[in-house]
Amino acid sequence: MIHSHLSNEIIAKHGNSDSSDSEQDSQPIVRNATPLNIKPAKTYTLKAPVEADGFSWPSIGTYKRAQETPEEEQQRIDRIASAVKTILTELGEDIAREGLLDTPQRYAKAMLYFTKGYHTNIRDDVLKNAVFEEDHDEMVIVRDIEIYSLCEHHLVPFYGKVHIGYIPNKKVIGLSKLARLAEMYARRLQVQERLSKQIAMALQAILKPLGVAVVIEATHMCMVSRGIQKTGSLTQTSSMLGAFRAHKTREEFLTLLNRNR
Ligand SMILES: [Zn+2]
Repeated sequence: MIHSHLSNEIIAKHGNSDSSDSEQDSQPIVRNATPLNIKPAKTYTLKAPVEADGFSWPSIGTYKRAQETPEEEQQRIDRIASAVKTILTELGEDIAREGLLDTPQRYAKAMLYFTKGYHTNIRDDVLKNAVFEEDHDEMVIVRDIEIYSLCEHHLVPFYGKVHIGYIPNKKVIGLSKLARLAEMYARRLQVQERLSKQIAMALQAILKPLGVAVVIEATHMCMVSRGIQKTGSLTQTSSMLGAFRAHKTREEFLTLLNRNR
């Protein structure tokens, strides 16, 4: 089955069939272009993964959240909580009943936690000088990194495992930092395809390795708990850069991943 997110991504990549620009419509579609350069300008993939200040693909509100005082943060929580009260009321609930009294504040805090990756600083909070010179040039793989993220289309969780591989080019990264990197991008509103790509692109920019491979297997609550109700269905996405685009290297990575399973 094709997950709806996946089909959206495919449609987006092949661009606008409903474009009003007929000149553009008559242009032949270039089939051999890589996904990185068939998407139009403005997309995050055209921006460097790590900004000079250490933030990675910041959102509109990243800097405000990163710099706010505890008082300002409490005001933010209060504003979210009051919106949650509206939602609960609209659902037909009694916001004054005991079980729900603290729910709006709790939910606000939970949402801020689930999106803390927007203002995590890649340089100061994730890497912390854990990039080392090393003469290792064989594939490094860390698999089964657990991630919990939020689907940006439904604001419900998707969760699963990330497997990261790379082939160093004189630089290696502390292994635990790979998990931190995955965590940082997972704690944002995401689609699984973008999460895979952001982890891969960031690692590529930080280490300049010969190649990076990221595979994510995840369960989407929006898929298994409503509508289609395919419990247990897994969505798999991958992002392969550099040497991993070559068939042999990709195969070696996937074989190593599946060993001892
Ligand atoms: Zn969803």
